[in-house]
Amino acid sequence: MMRTSQTNAPAPGRPATDGEFPRRLRSAVRGEVMFDAASRGRYATDASIYQVEPVGVLVPASHDDVRAALDVCRSLRVPVLPRGAGSSQCGQTVGAALVIDHSKHLNRVLAFDRDAMEVTVEPGLVLDALNAWLRPHGLWFPVDVSTSAQCTLGGMAGNNSCGSRSIAYGNMVHNVDAIDALLADGSEGRFGPEADMAQAPSRLREIARALRAVGERQRDEIEARVPKVMRRVGGYNLDVFHPQSERPYTADGSVNYAHLLVGSEGTLAWTKSLTLKLGPLPRHRALGVVNFPSLYRAMECAQHLVTLGPSAVELVDRTMIGLARGNPAFRPVIDAALIGEPDAILLTEFTGEDADGPRRQLARLVELMGELGLPESVVPLTDAAAQKALWEVRKAGLNIMMSMKGDGKPVSFIEDCAVPLAHLAEYVDRLSQVFAKHGTRGTWYAHASVGTLHVRQILDMRRDGAAKMRAIAEEAAAMVREYKGAFSGEHGDGLVRTERVEWQFGPVLTRAFEEVKALFDPDNLMNPGKIVRGTCMDDATLFRLPPGHRVLPIATALDWSAWDVHNDPVRDELTAPGTGGDPAHGFAKAVEMCNNNGHCRKFDAGTMCPSYRVTRDEEHSTRGRANTLRLALSGQLGGEFASPAVREALDLCVSCKGCRRDCPTGVDMAKMKVEFNRHWQQRHGVAFKDRVVASLPRWAPWAARLPWLANLRDTVPGLARLGERAFGFDARRTLPRWRADTFLASAAARGATDADADVVLLVDTFSNYFEPENAHAALAVLRAAGLRVAVARASASDPAPSRPLCCGRTYLGAGLVDEAKREARRLVDALVPHIARGATVVGLEPSCLLGLRDEYLVMGLGEDAQRLAPRALLIEEFLAREHRAGRLSLPLAPLPQKGALLHGHCHQKAFDTMGSAVDVLRMVPELQVEVIESSCCGMAGSFGYEARHYDVSMKMAEAALLPAVRAADVGTLIVADGTSCRHQIADGTRGAAPREALHLVRVLERSLAAAKLH
Ligand SMILES: Cc1cc2nc3c(=O)[nH]c(=O)nc-3n(C[C@H](O)[C@H](O)[C@H](O)COP(=O)(O)OP(=O)(O)OC[C@H]3O[C@@H](n4cnc5c(N)ncnc54)[C@H](O)[C@@H]3O)c2cc1C
Ligand code: SF4
Ligand code: SF4
Repeated sequence: MMRTSQTNAPAPGRPATDGEFPRRLRSAVRGEVMFDAASRGRYATDASIYQVEPVGVLVPASHDDVRAALDVCRSLRVPVLPRGAGSSQCGQTVGAALVIDHSKHLNRVLAFDRDAMEVTVEPGLVLDALNAWLRPHGLWFPVDVSTSAQCTLGGMAGNNSCGSRSIAYGNMVHNVDAIDALLADGSEGRFGPEADMAQAPSRLREIARALRAVGERQRDEIEARVPKVMRRVGGYNLDVFHPQSERPYTADGSVNYAHLLVGSEGTLAWTKSLTLKLGPLPRHRALGVVNFPSLYRAMECAQHLVTLGPSAVELVDRTMIGLARGNPAFRPVIDAALIGEPDAILLTEFTGEDADGPRRQLARLVELMGELGLPESVVPLTDAAAQKALWEVRKAGLNIMMSMKGDGKPVSFIEDCAVPLAHLAEYVDRLSQVFAKHGTRGTWYAHASVGTLHVRQILDMRRDGAAKMRAIAEEAAAMVREYKGAFSGEHGDGLVRTERVEWQFGPVLTRAFEEVKALFDPDNLMNPGKIVRGTCMDDATLFRLPPGHRVLPIATALDWSAWDVHNDPVRDELTAPGTGGDPAHGFAKAVEMCNNNGHCRKFDAGTMCPSYRVTRDEEHSTRGRANTLRLALSGQLGGEFASPAVREALDLCVSCKGCRRDCPTGVDMAKMKVEFNRHWQQRHGVAFKDRVVASLPRWAPWAARLPWLANLRDTVPGLARLGERAFGFDARRTLPRWRADTFLASAAARGATDADADVVLLVDTFSNYFEPENAHAALAVLRAAGLRVAVARASASDPAPSRPLCCGRTYLGAGLVDEAKREARRLVDALVPHIARGATVVGLEPSCLLGLRDEYLVMGLGEDAQRLAPRALLIEEFLAREHRAGRLSLPLAPLPQKGALLHGHCHQKAFDTMGSAVDVLRMVPELQVEVIESSCCGMAGSFGYEARHYDVSMKMAEAALLPAVRAADVGTLIVADGTSCRHQIADGTRGAAPREALHLVRVLERSLAAAKLH
């Protein structure tokens, strides 16, 4: 096919540089206007392989802002690009335009009609947020896309998104009833059912009339060229006039003009609001997992399974099964769904108003598989929890695949071709052979029910990826044509598939699409270069990581070599750590793991990302930070890595490690912040107050000698204000109180020196100096369990043997990695002899203890640190483990309080230790334990004490934690293992109804005491 690279977008760069555009825009709007390089860089990418720098960014405060911005853009001929979560996979949301991000402020529910089952929403509302809002009404919006946690309704309409259950509910186009739109020429009004268009403003009526004329004129072409599959999202929906989809757009076949805007990728008009059709929440579901000996057989059978009326038929292939089985948490879930060693499974779901319907359909599925020659191949799952767990595995399998290290990445460009079900098996088989021919392989998953199988090939876009991409796309396209399928069945055209529009629809319809574009947007201002008149998919100048991608050579403080590898896509093997050729020794490649899917913008359960949740600024999302780091590391922010723009983007990162766990590709921003801070300190020096906080473990022994003096700040009026100026601690905060009766100086601690101890208790700086009662409680609990306990002390060879041990966390937080390494070395040297004879190291403070399993492994501490890591446990992990193994006997008795509300420290959540904490609390007889669904408490070490972070810190706490604590009955125990979490709870409830949170060991200690009284 001919490769054209044309776009008639207005000259993009000029308005930003001559100053008139930014000036006029700023005076016209109330919202945030950004023209700096870092902000533009953060909006230059989406979940595709592309990067195009926008002219500027507007985060509108209202619809008036959008209207005003369009006026300015029109008069200066600057293109406009509407954007929601920016999770598009095809480059729809990147372009040389003014990007309008409406996700921050334009996200309200505007109208709701329960009886008509309709809701009208602003475009920035996130799908999961809408469904959470609808749940109490027993309704949902059923286009359940995988990115539901972050994607916006405006973006879903823009892409004509489709969910796993589209066979039952259709695509967006089947579920949008009306769109209130704003056109580039300033006119606005409602596009909806044809019958209502008579009331529309004259400009809209004129467009509707002209569209109808185009539709009538193109009747034959529409019938000849538009694929007759439901999953067709490419081009404009001109077939509203002569429906071609397997599923009609409207129940009565009438025309709805909103459907022409659905799937238009922001190229026709700005969606101001959308009226959506809702469905009743399915009450009952049943899942049949069909096991197949080959992928081919699975695909062959899909066409028969859909005759049973399922709500989903989802494929999980052998690679995904293998990946899931490799994960200890998922293994039992997937194993329970397997019969032997299948090559593929189809998750076949049935839903109904009563339990009997889905069960009957499940029985019919079993019969059908027998008729198809595969008896005994179905694992029925009727329990809701088991079903949910298996759906989670399906999602996580994809995430594991996306977390592949090395320059070769799973690239999406033919990932959503849709073919009629009768040809699915042959299509999969032939395409697999094409991959093999090009030295790669694909992993298959997703929507077998509608013939849309997702497949991604591993390609290295910095080397030969572009050439392979084109070659594979050509062969795939030929097959799709042969099978009369759709080249774009889910994700749209964008930059990657606009060149295929003419291929798919032919020259006549393509010219008709251009006519449609001209009717709405004659000056080509709306997202130019998408759907019509686009660029080539393999135009390397548009790649995020193009051939020759430069990385600044930097010497790293932490060991990132695990990321510095190459991968072999066919054999699925990685080269040795450190061999990937990264001039930043793996750090750049670790940063590049962010594929921009935007999951860090989620608001549901989980920790990631507390600062984004509070600010809703792209800059303060994990993605925004990763992109800023990538731009700086590749010299795109002025040639210096230690750039103020990175410092700013990382400023509100609380190092909670939520991303380490929740990000599908494992971006570990907390560790990246340590690395950056170290470079920043080297370049700019260490601020006095940062050094004071970092070296707290060093000066703590002196403060403990004169605690009354150290505590004066919170008792003498005015001192807190002075302290705020000198040290940056907010005067509204109280500081932790220094104690004279430190734990390590106590007789109990001095006596805990058993050379054969089973357990070595690591008492951190905070427990020792501020809350020694926690360490005493831990000692008491461990001894009550009959264990021999030694308290960790510096080794005899330590240069300062009398100075308490410290994990180095405070130094790491400030980027003082060398100092942190020195502390870590002391600690490792002190603990290694104990673990060498089989003892377990047990700690109280999550951020200290869990560092031994995390940062210690990349600080160049050698084999000793590797040996220590698996033997270092939080006290609850240790107690839960011993309990499970039947080795723990604690004489516990009921407490007067019958409920405990548990808040998890972020690092407990990141390392999956919350289950142990719950298990241990449940050992207390009659105690009902409930976990607060909270993200970070907002204190995060010294973060929340700092005056410049106080407001953000309190907002984080108020998001979930503090309201839950305040709502708790006074007789409920509040439990929090993190020192800073406890402090935040105390600070946040100061006043009329103060609440004190306890470390879990204090609850056990009380229960032991209660047992003694009995
Ligand atoms: C891991 C992953 C999984 C995915 N799974 C699915 C899936 O299951 N099903 C699916 O269909 N897609 C899927 N996608 C693609 C994408 O997430 C969806 O299309 C999603 O609905 C896009 O929403 P968004 O808010 O991110 O939109 P954006 O990407 O921000 O925008 C999408 C398009 O809509 C336009 N637009 C946005 N707002 C407006 C507005 N107000 N007015 C006019 N135009 C507007 C934009 O210009 C753009 O062209 C997936 C993507 C990823 C990365
Ligand atoms: S940081 Fe992780 S979750 Fe966020 S966009 Fe990047 S890959 Fe996705
Ligand atoms: S460490 Fe926490 S605050 Fe920082 S980017 Fe990750 S999730 Fe966000």
